[in-house]
Amino acid sequence: NAKAKGRGRFQFYSGEMNARALQRLRMENELRKAIDNNELRVAYQPKVDVQQRKFIGVEALVRWDHPKHGIVSPAEFIPLAEESGLIVDIDNWVLHKACHQASEWLNMGITCPVAVNVSALNFKKTNLVERIKTALREADLPASLLELEMTESIVMSDIELNTERLTQLKEMGTSISIDDFGTGYSSLSYLRRLPIDQVKIDRSFVNEIDCNNEDMAIVKAIIAMSTTLKMEVIAEGVETTTQTEKLSKAGCHRLQGFFYAKPMPAKFATETLLAGFDALPAAKKLATATS
Ligand code: C2E
Ligand code: MG
Ligand code: MG
Ligand code: MG
Repeated sequence: NAKAKGRGRFQFYSGEMNARALQRLRMENELRKAIDNNELRVAYQPKVDVQQRKFIGVEALVRWDHPKHGIVSPAEFIPLAEESGLIVDIDNWVLHKACHQASEWLNMGITCPVAVNVSALNFKKTNLVERIKTALREADLPASLLELEMTESIVMSDIELNTERLTQLKEMGTSISIDDFGTGYSSLSYLRRLPIDQVKIDRSFVNEIDCNNEDMAIVKAIIAMSTTLKMEVIAEGVETTTQTEKLSKAGCHRLQGFFYAKPMPAKFATETLLAGFDALPAAKKLATATS
């Protein structure tokens, strides 16, 4: 009967939820040990300026090389890391690694700013500025070569506190980018007052500009806003020649995406940077597309 069915269904769901909770707990414990077990990796994704035809920096993106599951993407473990608080240690680990890498590049004669992602929890920690200073000092990296990426929702959450925090970070000499721009709820009047250097147009808008006029309109509005507020603008998730042409024509020459380069291990990133922009397969495609 219905009651028995209902009960059966409840048990099914509850069993499923227990299994998921257990899986979560297991993953959290494994993640806790991942840093000490040396299972975290950093992948570097280049950013280009198509007008100047050069690399303008790289973004450091964390990966988890799980002993059983192989490479796990941050989309799968960052949410868990945020909830458990482990993200602060992870961000810090990535920060140190990225600063050392940029410093190594500098020693090789490659001046390449490195960007790290700062999670909400990490941004709120009172010792953030101190930890960043320590990482820069230990790596012997000038602060001007470190860029901090944080999402719109982080920057817009507690305006009083965030204005102070962003000002401290700026005074230190690092530059600040708003990640995934356009997906949050930025207030233009606040944005104007914050010491922001760059906005990153979210991938979801870039994705659709080939076929969706509304997304192109949003992209154009973001570019116009950045120009007015004297901020740099970069588009993330660029995958095609058409997207490149549309963005560039609209005034956004800074681009990042699979079309140019995927996130890659330090060794390959170094080779890519050394070879230069014109050696990219994308650069060749662009040259033929415009000639
Ligand atoms: P994000 O900071 O917006 O990074 C961009 C993401 O888009 C990266 O995914 C990158 O691999 C991907 N991507 C870049 N170009 C393209 C493209 O052309 N097409 C497509 N489809 N994707 C592209 P990833 O590495 O999986 O990272 C996802 C998110 O995880 C990041 O988004 C960031 O929010 C977070 N994350 C990554 N590393 C860290 C970290 O060290 N700390 C913190 N707090 N968050 C991190
Ligand atoms: Mg980012
Ligand atoms: Mg982003
Ligand atoms: Mg994004």
